[in-house]
This record gives sequence, structure tokens and C-alpha cells, in this order.
Amino acid sequence: MKPVNYERDFRAGIGGGIFLNIIVAEHSGFCFGVKKAVSIASETKAGHGRIFTYGPIIHNNIVVKELEQKGINVLPNIDELNEGDTVIIRSHGVSKKIIDMLNEKKVNIVDATCPYVDHIHKKVEEYFNNGYQIIIIGDKDHPEVQGINGWCDNSAIIISNLECVKDLKTYNKVCIVSQTTVNTAKWREIVSSLIGISKELVILNTICAAADQRQKSAAEIAQKCDAMIVLGGLNSSNTKKLAEICRQFCPKTFYIERINQLDTNNLKNINTLGITAGASTPDWIIKEAFEKMSEMIETGEEKVQGETEVKENNKSEDKDIGEDKDIENEEKTDQGSIMSEYEKTFKRLSEGDIIKGKVIYVTDDEVTVDIGYKADGIIPKSELNIDEETSPKDILKSGDELDVYILKINDGEGNVLLSKRRVDAVKNMDYIGECFKGKVPVEGEIIQTVKGGVIAKVKGNSVFIPASQLDVKYVKDLSIFVGKTERLLIMTFEPAKNRIVASRRAIVEDELNKKRSAFLESIKPGDILKGRVDRLADFGAFIDLGCIDGLAHISELSWTRVKSPSDVVKVGDIVEVYVLSVDKEKERISLSLKRTLPQPWDIVKEKVHVGDVIEGKVVRIVPFGAFVEIQDGVDGLVHISQICDRRINRVEDVLKVNDIVKVKVMDINLESRKISLSIKEASEEENKGEQDEEAKTQNPEPAQIQTEKPEKDNLTIGEIVQNNANK
Ligand code: SF4
Repeated sequence: MKPVNYERDFRAGIGGGIFLNIIVAEHSGFCFGVKKAVSIASETKAGHGRIFTYGPIIHNNIVVKELEQKGINVLPNIDELNEGDTVIIRSHGVSKKIIDMLNEKKVNIVDATCPYVDHIHKKVEEYFNNGYQIIIIGDKDHPEVQGINGWCDNSAIIISNLECVKDLKTYNKVCIVSQTTVNTAKWREIVSSLIGISKELVILNTICAAADQRQKSAAEIAQKCDAMIVLGGLNSSNTKKLAEICRQFCPKTFYIERINQLDTNNLKNINTLGITAGASTPDWIIKEAFEKMSEMIETGEEKVQGETEVKENNKSEDKDIGEDKDIENEEKTDQGSIMSEYEKTFKRLSEGDIIKGKVIYVTDDEVTVDIGYKADGIIPKSELNIDEETSPKDILKSGDELDVYILKINDGEGNVLLSKRRVDAVKNMDYIGECFKGKVPVEGEIIQTVKGGVIAKVKGNSVFIPASQLDVKYVKDLSIFVGKTERLLIMTFEPAKNRIVASRRAIVEDELNKKRSAFLESIKPGDILKGRVDRLADFGAFIDLGCIDGLAHISELSWTRVKSPSDVVKVGDIVEVYVLSVDKEKERISLSLKRTLPQPWDIVKEKVHVGDVIEGKVVRIVPFGAFVEIQDGVDGLVHISQICDRRINRVEDVLKVNDIVKVKVMDINLESRKISLSIKEASEEENKGEQDEEAKTQNPEPAQIQTEKPEKDNLTIGEIVQNNANK
């Protein structure tokens, strides 16, 4: 529901109500309740039936006519309603009986009762049900008073003046309420005369602050003006009262509905003109009047003298309504002292206080709160600590109790401006302080990067995290954290300087320490683990095991000789490692890669036999022969006498490193891990094999069925292993 916009901006142009010699009352025009009612009515959409207002939506014929043009008419008679019609309850509210009758008619009820009036209904019903005699100070013929009376079975005593008090008898329990627009001075007078009417007396000041403010504001400017224009419906009780008040100070008061009803001849010889308007007068009517009067000044149409003096409207806002001058004056009399005692029952408020309140009414834009003060409090949506999409109705409802922060004693409409957001901020700040003291982690969403770190929001408060405190490792790009919610430890808490510093690194470190301890407890030598190669050094490779790095020494990377760790692994490789040892105190883990692989001599023992002819690579040449690698990590010696069938002086004359040669296994000594090989014997075997083949070709034997594929003569040890595995 959007509020109707009547463009109050024109006030900005007149400096808060002043333009040459025209003064517009600071508090005038639509009040909160009327604005809300008109807005609800304007936005009500018809269901299947017609739309009516129960009585005029507000006491202003112009607004009523505007609604009629939209098809929203004043209900002539309740009997004319059909099922499915819609009835909007006007801002003055109605009795319980009327609501029941409408429900019986099965119509849609749209309640536009002003929340303040609704509050009175609830109080009256509550006290009536608890055995109190209800007294209403107000006009018995006013629909608001009739509506209120309808919440105590129409049993209320209605008092409009002191005369009515004379014949009253005494009661056990009395509760006094008033029509919202009653004049405060009159209310005090009547309430004072009712003191002593019962043993138990509950006085509820239900005068609406908005009405009260308009009256004070009108009185204030009427004293400075030569003529006053009071704008509003002629049937509007609050506008009538404004006109009465203005006349007390300024006899030339004109009570009209619109400016065109004013006979400008009456403004001759007027130096200062005041304009005010009732709570049911739309702002555009005030604007229209102001502009028309301004034009007259500029054109000199009615010889209204254009003073150069700027008349200052009293804009100072009451810092504490409970301390206003009226009360001080009243205290000079006996009656005044009674009132003074009564006034003291109201809270004394100061801006910045945090007090308890009870929700009276919630709209999509604001929350009205009973704070036990003369005026109710208003929390605008912007002060609720909710996002744009959330409605105040989603988080609060009538009757909810909450703490509120006082932003302003008077928001300009006579209400106390409140904030829940500030309370939350204060509470949240306390919470952060407690977490700081107790070293308890908090949660915060990182919202942006700044110079030297990032900013996180912790319960609505900005917290700085230096770059060095983001992680245990150096973070090059801080923006990767933006949008993430992280656990943080508060390191510095200086709310007075608006300085809160936190560390994510401390949390990460703590978690790592815990994980590390648990991990170190869980592993033992001989375990096989998976890890990621984190970095390489000359002496080995560091393997990241998740929460701790282990070291695989260069000698443990491979069964063969390794010149550099990079010959075996590279950073980022995922590898299996064998745990050699665990030092829990120093948090050191020694690892081996090679021990996860088969031991070459085990393969030799199982797969290589004396007499096998296999392929190998010359890896070293020595004066007495050559070492030939027949398997990763296994070299055998070919003695110089076994290199060829002739005598040689130097091995290098026949072989060089990296030559691939065929060798015959002559001897295997597993204990001393020595293998004797012979190239000469392998060569002879080969020649013999070739001769046999040749002989077979010349003298073929009878054909045989071959069941297995013949193996080739000279196999590498890898091929031997593979073949055996396949068998
Ligand atoms: S004057 Fe006060 S009680 Fe009456 S409608 Fe306006 S806000 Fe509500």
C-alpha cells in the first residue's frame, strides 16, 4: 500500500512555512491516520460487488467526492448491502456491533480505522470487561465517540464540558478516555474535576498528538497574524477546533473548505496572513491556498503589503513534551498540581534512550508503538533493520513487545520517532564486545575489499580484516572472499573510535591445529596416505596431507638414484605416500613415495632366473666390466671377460653408456644383491637358436598343434613379469 502523495514539497520553497508575509502552520493538513485511511480507500479494489465507505471516509467533502468519482460511495444504509460488497471502515472507527452486522451481511470489510482510535477501542473493551465504568471526554454526536462507546456496550458516560460532571455519582472503578481531537486544556479541566469520582481511577490520555500539535501550531501563528485562513471540511471536528483556537488570537479568521471560497476583499490592510488546515485537509488544498495568496502578493491584486521581513515560524521542537510550559503554569493552581501529578505518570523521554514498547499497529511502511508516553512512537520501515523486500508486517504484529531507540521526541507530526535498527546496532555492538572479551568467534559477511584488507558486516556493524589476517597462506586476490560468510575472531574492539578489527586467520589456524592434532593421533608408521605435492626442495618434496605437510626425502622418492625431486614429481601431483615416522611433538611426518611401489629385488627374486636371456641398458662402465640395468633399481655386472668372445683391453672399445644389450643371467645372489650377467653367453644362445631354426627349416619335423604362442627368446624383465602375470 503506497501512501497518497500530495506533494508537500512546496513547503521546502517556503522555508518550513514562511514566505514573505504569509505563514503556513508547521503542523497542518493530513495526519497519519487520515493519510492512511485515504490511502487504503484509494487502493481498495472491488471484488465481485460494490465498494462503500461506512460514513464519509474522513470529514472532508472534497476527498469524499474524489472517492465517489472512483466508484467508492458512502454507504446510505446497511440494509442495502449485498453479499460480496466491500465496506471500508472510516478513520473514526465503528462500534463492535457494526462490525458484527457487516460480518452477518457477508461483505468484505476493509478496516481503515486510525490505529490510535483502534487502540482506544481495545483499551475501552479491556477495562469494560474488567468492571470499569467508562467515561469518554468528547462530543456524544461525533462518530468517533459513538464508535468508542460501542466497545463498552454503549454504557459509557460521555462528558463534553464541566457542566456534565456535576451530577455524576461515584463508582468503584472508572476508566477515562477521550475523543482524539479534544482540546488539551479542556481535557485537563474535565479530568481534574473527575478526580475522586472513584476509588480506582484509570486516566488514559488518548488525545492524538497530531491533533494537539495542529492546535498548538495554529495558536502559535494566529498570535502573529492579522488574518488566518483555516482550511478543512465544515463538518470536520478537528478543523472546527482549529478555527475556534485561531479566533481566540486572531478575530479575522476565515474557515473555508477551499481558497476560492475566500472573499479577498476581507484581506485589505493585512500585513501577515496565516494559513492552517485540519487533519482531514489534503496538502494540495493548502498548497493551492498558499500559491493563490502568494500570487496576490506578487501582483498586488488586493494591495496586500509585501513585507520584506521574514517571519520566523517557531520550528523548535519540544525536546521533552513532558516539560512544556503549559504544565508549569498549571502547577501554580491546585487543580494544576493534580494534573502535574498525572503528567508525571508519563515517562520522561530523551533522545537516545532505549525503552520498551508495545506494537499497536503495523503497516507496510511503519510500525506504531505504545511507549507509555503522551504520544505514540513511530518506527519507519527504514529504521526496522529489514531489507527492501520485507514488510514490517512480516516481522511484527499488534501486541509484540520490543525495545526501541528514541531518535526524536517529535517527528513533526507529534509522534515520537523511533528506531529498532539502532537498538539492534547497540545490542549487536554489545554482543561483539562480549565475543571480544570471551574470545568467541562471530560470523560476518565479507562485503568489500579496501586498502590493506576487507570489510565484513558482523550483525550490521562494519569490521575490518587486514589482508594478513585473512588466511594462513598469503592471499594475492582479496576479492575471492567478497560475498562469503566467514567465522571471525575479534582482535580489536574500540567502539568509541568506531574501530573493530577481526581475524579469519586466527580461526583457520585454530581449526587447522585441532585437525592437525587429531590427524597426528590417527596416523602411524606404515600407513599409506594420499597427498598433494605442495612444494619441492633440493632435499625432497613436501606433501600436503590436508592439514599438515609431510616430507618425502629425495632418497625416498624412487628406488633408483634421483638427481632432483623434479625428476620424479611436480607440484600439484596427487601421490600415494608411505608414512615412515611421526613426530607428534614437533609435528613432523617423514614420508616415502618409493615404498608404495614394488621393491625391485622382490621382482627379481620372483621373476628372474639363472639362464634367462633378457634385455638391459648399460648404465655404467668400469675398468673390469659394465653395469647393465635389467630393472628399475637393479643393475647386474657384465665382467669384461663376458662382454664378447674375444679378448678386449677396454670395455669402452665395445660398449658405451645407454647401449641396449641382451644379457644372460649367470648368477643371482639375493643376499648381497648382486647379479652376474653375460653378453657373450646371450650372444651364443642367440646364435645357437638361429642355427636350430635353420636346421628345422631344412629338415622340417611333422606338424604339431601349437597351443601356446611361443615366447620370443630375449625378453626384458618387464616382459617376463607381464607374461608371468598373464599365465
Ligand atoms: S487526528 Fe489522530 S486520531 Fe485522528 S485520524 Fe488523525 S492520527 Fe488518527
